[in-house]
Amino acid sequence: MKAPAKSSGSSSPAASTLELSPGREPEATPPFELFALLAEHDHEQVSVYYDPSAGYRGIIAIHSTVLGPALGGTRFWNYQSDTEALIDALRLARGMTYKAAVAGLNLGGGKSVILGDNRTTRREALFRAHGRHVESLKGRYITAEDVGTTTGDMEYIKAETNHVTGLIGKSGDPSPVTAYGVYRGMKACARYRAGSDSLAGKRVALQGCGSVGYHLARLLHAEGAQITCTDIDPQRVKRVVEEVGAQAVGTDEIYDVRADIFAPCALGAVLNDATIPRLHVEIVAGGANNQLAEDRHGDLLEERHITYAPDYVINGGGLINVNAELHGWAPERARSKAGEIYDTLLRVFEIAREEGIPSYRAADRLAEQRIAAIAKVRCNFV
Ligand code: NAD
Repeated sequence: MKAPAKSSGSSSPAASTLELSPGREPEATPPFELFALLAEHDHEQVSVYYDPSAGYRGIIAIHSTVLGPALGGTRFWNYQSDTEALIDALRLARGMTYKAAVAGLNLGGGKSVILGDNRTTRREALFRAHGRHVESLKGRYITAEDVGTTTGDMEYIKAETNHVTGLIGKSGDPSPVTAYGVYRGMKACARYRAGSDSLAGKRVALQGCGSVGYHLARLLHAEGAQITCTDIDPQRVKRVVEEVGAQAVGTDEIYDVRADIFAPCALGAVLNDATIPRLHVEIVAGGANNQLAEDRHGDLLEERHITYAPDYVINGGGLINVNAELHGWAPERARSKAGEIYDTLLRVFEIAREEGIPSYRAADRLAEQRIAAIAKVRCNFV
């Protein structure tokens, strides 16, 4: 994707920790090429904010605002270095642009990271400092929960800015909407593969019986699918076995199950050199993020004639739910939007076929096409 021609660098009023103060001699460390890094990740803007009194060190990365304000959660993590934190923010922000674009939302992609121990109990000043950082961007970035942060932390952020979602008592648990989108995506895969989108009588190997997995199992059962499931938590397996008559297998056995569909709904990187050769399925379609250990595993699935629903397309229901909160949508509207994942996936498979590329690349193509088209529509003065 071509980087949009927007200003780079920090627009935050706070001093960037990456800048040298006047008169200070550069140190003999390897050069840190900030703008090269932004160019590599196609970014519009990065803002760095430091508030030692609050113990706050935060980075906000804005990948693209072509479609709308950059939305993405706040990750609170003990990074090994500042560079590692920055690269994580850049990578995650870029992913958000693509996810929002294929979901048909008027949102761009951004992400923020707070560097530190996420188990700290001294949270109010820290997250209010983060809220001020978010506020300084005047709506170009909207934050939400992510790894290491809670809804309570979002409330602290809210004290300093309105550009935060996922608040207590608002859109609530996104998992039912995510599961519905995954279910609709699975049906699109079945239609692409066999001409019919009925899942009745199909066997689904479900990895993970947590929030998304559980709701997905119920939808599949209602349509007459058979489920084989696994989870590291026996209680979660028990619930799915009892409620939908699923058959349970061990956590490692799930890859060997003979089924029509493998549905990863637990961890990332589960599609890798060790697991792909073991799969006996026609379709991989599930809610987990970052399912491919590396891009080349998407090619490997293609070589094995397994239809892969790109993760960020099929699990877009969570983001759709956040968007619903931002715009005050009724729950039915969010669900209906998640249902559109069906058509989006069919379009992804069509692009893959037309261009002779794997589905994960076709999804990127679709996102880039939408961003380019909207950028063109909005290039004139009105
Ligand atoms: P969750 O924590 O409720 O469920 C995950 C389940 O996976 C848990 O029950 C856990 O015990 C199980 N698990 C962990 N390791 C396992 C293993 N090795 N084998 C089998 N099971 C294992 O999380 P969730 O909200 O259901 O999310 C599941 C996945 O979907 C995550 O990758 C998440 O990032 C992604 N996702 C979730 C949403 C959402 O709306 N919740 C939206 C988009 C993407």
